[in-house]
Amino acid sequence: MLKAGQNLLLNKRLWHLRQVQPVKGRHWDLEAVGVSEAALGLTRRMSAIQYGDEVFIQQRQRDYWRGHLGQDWLETERGPALNCRPATWLDLLAAHTRHPANTDIKNEFSWSYSRALKYRHCPRAYYYHYYAAWEGWQNDAPAPVQRAYLLKNLTDLPLWTGTLVHDSIKFALARLKAGHPLVEADLFKRMQARAQADFTDSHSGRYQQKPNQLTGFQEHYYQTGLAAVEWLAAQAQAERYLGTFLNSALYADLQQQPPASFLTIEALQSFSLAGIKIWIQMDLARQAGDTIYVYDWKTGPVEETELRQQLGIYGLHLRQTRPPLSSALRAVVYLLGEDRTLTFDLDEPLLQETQTHIEASIAHLRGLLLDPQANLADLRRFPMIDDLTVCRCCQFRELCGRDKEQGSR
Ligand code: SF4
Repeated sequence: MLKAGQNLLLNKRLWHLRQVQPVKGRHWDLEAVGVSEAALGLTRRMSAIQYGDEVFIQQRQRDYWRGHLGQDWLETERGPALNCRPATWLDLLAAHTRHPANTDIKNEFSWSYSRALKYRHCPRAYYYHYYAAWEGWQNDAPAPVQRAYLLKNLTDLPLWTGTLVHDSIKFALARLKAGHPLVEADLFKRMQARAQADFTDSHSGRYQQKPNQLTGFQEHYYQTGLAAVEWLAAQAQAERYLGTFLNSALYADLQQQPPASFLTIEALQSFSLAGIKIWIQMDLARQAGDTIYVYDWKTGPVEETELRQQLGIYGLHLRQTRPPLSSALRAVVYLLGEDRTLTFDLDEPLLQETQTHIEASIAHLRGLLLDPQANLADLRRFPMIDDLTVCRCCQFRELCGRDKEQGSR
């Protein structure tokens, strides 16, 4: 790191470092005295963040300068000075993801269906979500990292509608499993209370204090307007989906089943494939005689190949975690918008095909990394996409500078 007595050249102004104090982790406090005419004798407090030999210096809230301790020295009238150039938030994020985490919680590579999907939609969004945002929950994380974490946790109306429905169904099924079925009216009241709380948390900005616990709408963050009428329509849609579910033959059948037959309800679970942790979250798995049924509720449009692959992952999990598995595996997908059920077998050819696909995806995603063992990523290997219609709805558009060009903020 820099030392007291050294010099800094920032924005063509020379500063002499009077004090350099470690704060915590990568952070340092600097006290500098102006040497150039424009800042002569001025004392300025600055903060510095160190990533290896790269130092990011911040004078004001948002602006960074960066210098490389191994190569950016210039000779000046006061001796050598670290010549720092203006740096963007992306420069800092790029340095952040090239270095190991500065916390006990390491960013280990894992795989999930949604992770692979995120990459397919936009490699840069994938990078922000799984790399740039890491450590963003810490109060002393650099501002761009905290921002990436905040944006990662934003939702939007369609996504929120689906979450509301899934949470309500999960609650209803958990009560069935516990042997205490809910009165339907109570379930709707609970959903309405949750919807109101989410809206209030987002509208008030409270979600910014706890981005991973409280709901924040993109529409509020980017100030694109979330009219009460739109929000109420989304809530009404969620209630219709829930009503469809509660009145379905499928739910009527589930109510007749012994609670002990419910194996898992929307629990986050993992298993291992090719030495990598695979995350899954089945909406419901249930044993009935020699068959294990895996359920999935959908509020949006579906594509059959995708669906088979997603449910195939659940099949792989069950095959690995419930051996010896003599039971047949069957998938049940309930399309809430159409009140229609799709069923198919999770048979061996499908599981094989799914496994091959996952292994290829893991190899591809890890192959993009700077250091696959340490799970370090280089921003340049995760390009932005050209389709601005996708960017218009992307939670990360601020980091890409595509919020203003959409005229949204
Ligand atoms: S704004 Fe566009 S390019 Fe940037 S992360 Fe989002 S989708 Fe990708």
